[in-house]
Amino acid sequence: MERKVENLKTKFIFVTGGVLSSLGKGLASAAIGALMESRGLTVTFQKLDPYINVDPGTMNPFQHGEVYVTDDGAETDLDLGHYERFTSATMSSKNNWTSGKIYYSVILKERRGDYLGGTVQVVPHITDEIKKAIMSVAGDADIAIIEIGGTVGDIEGLPFLEAIRQFRLDVGKENAIYIHLTLVPYIKTAGELKTKPTQHSVKELRAIGIQPDIILCRTDRFLPPEIKRKISLFCNVDEDAVITAKDVDTIYEVPLVFHQEGLDNKIVELLNIWTREPQLKAWEELIYKIKHPKHTVTIGIVGKYTDLKESYKSLNEALVHGGIANNARVNLKYIEATDIEKDGPEAWLQDVAGVLVPGGFGKRGTVGKMMAIQYARENRIPFLGICLGMQLAVIEFARHVAGLKEADSTEFNPDTPHPVIYLMREWYDFRRGKIQKRDESVDKGGTMRLGAYPCQLQKNTFAYEAYQKEEISERHRHRYEFNNKYREVFTQYGMIISGLSPDKELVEIVELKDHPWFVGCQFHPEFKSRPMKPHPLFKAFIKAALTERS
Ligand code: GLN
Repeated sequence: MERKVENLKTKFIFVTGGVLSSLGKGLASAAIGALMESRGLTVTFQKLDPYINVDPGTMNPFQHGEVYVTDDGAETDLDLGHYERFTSATMSSKNNWTSGKIYYSVILKERRGDYLGGTVQVVPHITDEIKKAIMSVAGDADIAIIEIGGTVGDIEGLPFLEAIRQFRLDVGKENAIYIHLTLVPYIKTAGELKTKPTQHSVKELRAIGIQPDIILCRTDRFLPPEIKRKISLFCNVDEDAVITAKDVDTIYEVPLVFHQEGLDNKIVELLNIWTREPQLKAWEELIYKIKHPKHTVTIGIVGKYTDLKESYKSLNEALVHGGIANNARVNLKYIEATDIEKDGPEAWLQDVAGVLVPGGFGKRGTVGKMMAIQYARENRIPFLGICLGMQLAVIEFARHVAGLKEADSTEFNPDTPHPVIYLMREWYDFRRGKIQKRDESVDKGGTMRLGAYPCQLQKNTFAYEAYQKEEISERHRHRYEFNNKYREVFTQYGMIISGLSPDKELVEIVELKDHPWFVGCQFHPEFKSRPMKPHPLFKAFIKAALTERS
């Protein structure tokens, strides 16, 4: 048979979700990637999100969870964080597309006249653009795992599903498979596992023309053979393609459960690839470590969206990783900054071994965060400030140590007499290799320092001690910077500038001299932490918390 696409290096796994959201499609995709890697294959990923926003950069973390930042400065869906944590793949802007981004590029082409006066339609123009986006990751790896956001049946998801249906026709059966994640609930009153939601969801998918090859069944127990048989029969998939996606204690167990259920075997069989047996020892050791910690430590996280854990996803994981590196279970105590404003820091922080103030935007809660920082500084509690957390540590220091009572960031008080954090008018952008100019009038979306930037570390500092090297690269997402005018006075009062951009103009890390461990970084280290490779700063922070306070 003749195919539209020949000589494809990459094979595709499409992951869709049914019944309801939050079943863990992103984690399932990441775990599939981990299993493929464990067989010696290289993997890449792509997340296709049906919403109309061009990227999640401007979305409220309450609604959408964390914005994950890649090395190339893309503001992406938090599932890309799972992909990077579970595998060695590096994500970039081409690994996350939204309907908005797809439509935007089609509309730009239409305005340019690229369609030569033709009627521009969802099929074929939007679907072609989606297929082009999918194809943009072909060639990057042996396996590309493409996750479709949302749930089958959503109106917005239809063009994506249509596009992936066509895609397999273009590349051939052994080059693309469909995996569908559904729910198999255990109904207590009936004492039974129910397959009907799965049946309906698969029916919905088949109505669009997609017959899943594998069904992942999210459930609280392993599915007995008769249930698998039933799903196999009603959903028209092989019995050994019905996989239990059992609830687990730690997310890092998912690859092992999938393997136990034969998922990776089935995938390579369907895609007709020969690989070595999976090597899962590192994952087994990791799970053992997570489940048998020698110590326990509680970290207080003083933030703004603390009700919604999704908004600090990478941070949570990085803290867990820091714990793994120290043989410790890390209890995360989320504290709403405004509660500290109400009750004082002592009430909320007396039982924590470390204080962390994460990144954030806007004034609300900054007073409470600074009260927490002051408490950690004065009581010698290990402290890690990330991005906004670092900026607030600088302001707190200016006000209470350096005597600049009205010091502030111009983000919160544009008229402060001491703008210790401010918008830098001009700075050299190492990533783009050019001078950047900024002022208040510049369009909000475009003025952030985004993505990976180099940073040089001073020896004999907490930072150097943690990283054990002189040059590092970390990811940024912020507008404001440390004001160099105050470097000298702060240094006199005991602040140490331990990390700088290579031209020494941008302050990247600050710390305190007479403190067991007090570090603020302008970047987001949480985006680069992996369970198998815990981030140096989180490792050192947890270590300090364990040493000082337990
Ligand atoms: N709001 C601050 C800024 O824009 C900090 C941002 C952040 O913490 N990611 O610079």
